[in-house]
Amino acid sequence: MSCKICAEATVTEADRLVEVCASGYCHVECLKRWFKENCIIVEKEHLKSYHFPAFSCATCLKSVPFTVKTEEGSPINLTETPDPTTPHTLTLESLNSTRTIKMVYVLTG
Ligand SMILES: [Zn+2]
Ligand SMILES: [Zn+2]
Repeated sequence: MSCKICAEATVTEADRLVEVCASGYCHVECLKRWFKENCIIVEKEHLKSYHFPAFSCATCLKSVPFTVKTEEGSPINLTETPDPTTPHTLTLESLNSTRTIKMVYVLTG
């Protein structure tokens, strides 16, 4: 099995391959980088919004979930946004009805 994004099959302790659909695997770091590169950030005075588009498998068109699980079952968030516990900030997350687009709004006081 090789990564759908970088086509490499190399796996390290820190960068595993996760199954994203019946036909494919991706590196966790490749997915994180893809979401980071394709995230649209809109910054206004007290509001920063992050728009994460869907990453779809080219073969089956299935969208990769925003949180994947390792073989041991621990969840990994693929969309990196500022730490929601930062003081004086409020973070709101929303997904569209098909859970393929994620919006994160960070309000600062
Ligand atoms: Zn990769
Ligand atoms: Zn697929």
